[in-house]
Amino acid sequence: MARVYLDYNATSLPRAAAKEAVAAAMLAPANASSVHTEGRAARAIVEDARRRVAALLGADPDAITFTSGATESNLAALSPELELEGKPVRCDVLIVSSVEHPSVRAGGRFGDKIDILPVDENGIVSVAALQDLLDAQRANAQRAFVSVMAANNETGALQPLREIAERVRDAGGVFHTDAVQVAGKIPFNVAESGADLVSISAHKLGGPQGTGALIARHPDTRVPAFMRGGGQERGRRGGTENVAAIAGFGAAASEAGQTLTPEGSRLGALRAKIENGIRAVAREAVIFSERAARLPNTTYFSAPGVSAETAIIAFDLEGVAISSGSACSSGKVAASETLKAMRVDPELVKGAMRVSMGWNTTDADVTQFLQVWSKVYTSLNKRGARAA
Ligand code: PLP
Repeated sequence: MARVYLDYNATSLPRAAAKEAVAAAMLAPANASSVHTEGRAARAIVEDARRRVAALLGADPDAITFTSGATESNLAALSPELELEGKPVRCDVLIVSSVEHPSVRAGGRFGDKIDILPVDENGIVSVAALQDLLDAQRANAQRAFVSVMAANNETGALQPLREIAERVRDAGGVFHTDAVQVAGKIPFNVAESGADLVSISAHKLGGPQGTGALIARHPDTRVPAFMRGGGQERGRRGGTENVAAIAGFGAAASEAGQTLTPEGSRLGALRAKIENGIRAVAREAVIFSERAARLPNTTYFSAPGVSAETAIIAFDLEGVAISSGSACSSGKVAASETLKAMRVDPELVKGAMRVSMGWNTTDADVTQFLQVWSKVYTSLNKRGARAA
C-alpha cells in the first residue's frame, strides 16, 4: 500500500507548480544582480515571485525580503533597533509567548532581555498578562517589542492577533508575528493583521525548503540587515538570491492562494473524521487545544497508556508518517515545550502525537490512518496495561 504522509506542519509535500518553477529556473541559472540578459531574466523570476507572495498575504511587494527560511526571518525580525514606518525606534525589552518556535524563543538580537507571556490550558496567550507587562514597561519608560505566533505548529491553536496588535500599538511598541503555520493554510492578511513584521516559510505551504520571507506591513519599516554582504534585497539581506527556490516559493504561494477557502473546509471535515475516529478507538483520548480556534489541518492528541515514541515507529512501519509535534533536529521524540507551557499532565505529554494534513491529503489517507491507529492502539495499550 502507498505510504500516507501526515506531517505537513513539519514540511508540506511540494506542490507540482513549485517543482516546475524550480526546474525551469534551474535550466537558465544566472545571478539576479547581473546586468546581462540572463541576469535580468533571473531578476524577473525573483520579482514575479515577490508579487505572488505579496498577493497571497495582502502585502506590499516592496515590503518583502526573501530569506533562507523562517528561522532566519525570526532571528532578523527580533531587533531592538529598527525603522518603523520610516522613523528610528529603539525597543528595550522583548516579550514572547511561552509557545513560540525555538527561533523566536532564542530572542534574536535582544540577547536575554526577554519576558515570557504565559498561555492558558488551550495554549492561548493571556492578553491580560500582556497588558500588565506593557503597563509595567511603560511605567519604566521602556518600549516593548512583542512577538506572538499566528498559529502554533504543534496544536494549531490560533492566537488573538488583532487584539494583541492593538494592545501593543496603544503602548507604543512593535509587534512581530511568526505566521509560518497560517500562510497558505487559512486567509491571512499582513495589512489587516496589525503586525509590523511577519515571518513566513516556503516549505510549509508547498514550496522548497531553505527559503522564506520577512514581510513588513509598511514598506518603510525595516530592521538592520541580519546578513550583511553584497547589498542584495535592497540592502536588507546580503547573499546571492536563491532564484530557483524563490521561484518555487512564488508558484506555491499562488497555488495555495487559489484554493485557500475550499481547502480549509475540506481539511476541516477530514480533521473531524480523524478526531471522531481517534475517540471511537480510544474514548479517553485527549485532543490538545480542542476548545481553541485551530488550524483546520492539525490534530494533536494523546491517549493514556500509549507512548508517542513507540506509536510513531509503529505508524511508520505500517506506512503512515506522523510526528510527535515539533520536528527535533536530533530525530528523537523530545517532550513538547508547548504542552509543558499549557500545563498538560506529563504522562499525556509523553504520548503526544501530531497529525497534520495538506493539499495532497485524501479521504483514503485518513481512512488508512484510522485503520492503523486502531491496530497501534490495541497493541500498545495492552502492552501498557501489562507493564502497569
Ligand atoms: N516557526 C514555526 C512556527 C515553524 O513551525 C517553523 C518550522 O518548523 C519555523 C518557524 C522555522 O521555519 P524554517 O524551517 O523555514 O526555518
